[in-house]
Amino acid sequence: MAARQSLQRRQKSINTTFESSIDSTAVEEKLFGQAEEEDGDDDGPVVFICGKCKLPVGDSLSWDGSEDCQNQIRLKRVTDNVVVGEDSRLHEASKRSLCLIVDLFCRGCSSVLGMVYASTPKNLDHKRFAFCLNVADIDSYVLGSASQMLAAEGPKEQPVTLEYRGIVEQQLTEMKMLVMSMAQRLEEIDAGLQEECDVA
Ligand SMILES: [Zn+2]
Repeated sequence: MAARQSLQRRQKSINTTFESSIDSTAVEEKLFGQAEEEDGDDDGPVVFICGKCKLPVGDSLSWDGSEDCQNQIRLKRVTDNVVVGEDSRLHEASKRSLCLIVDLFCRGCSSVLGMVYASTPKNLDHKRFAFCLNVADIDSYVLGSASQMLAAEGPKEQPVTLEYRGIVEQQLTEMKMLVMSMAQRLEEIDAGLQEECDVA
């Protein structure tokens, strides 16, 4: 009889478990982990955009190289959204390497995006004829990395979003734990009955 009551209590706790809301941080961790995994696989062409107003300024199809020490990338071609300044100024690329450079501006928001070398010493000649964009002033978009989708059609169909999947997985885990604890309880009851039989 006591065992039966305990099972009924358990039954009640099953119901409350399924009604309780899911811990949102657990779902978020799941989402973050998966998002990071997907990032590693992305290797498509990249569109470079103005870091401030997001206008496209170029893409990786005209890639010319990168200057890691100066935190710049070089592109052979840029879009019309990049405005080449009119005034040139002196720039010390490195010790004893004075260059004449012209600033590059964004047509949309007028912020400085990078520079072109108007005149360089011989060892830096490869930098002429290329647009040098400051990594800090631009953003990028990887082709094919769009992830937003419209909800699936149909009145009752629920779209299988990552969040929804996370909730379902969480509920499955909770169900497994409940089944296991119930099985354990049954074993205990079984053992108890066995003992009673043995005594009798
Ligand atoms: Zn801009």
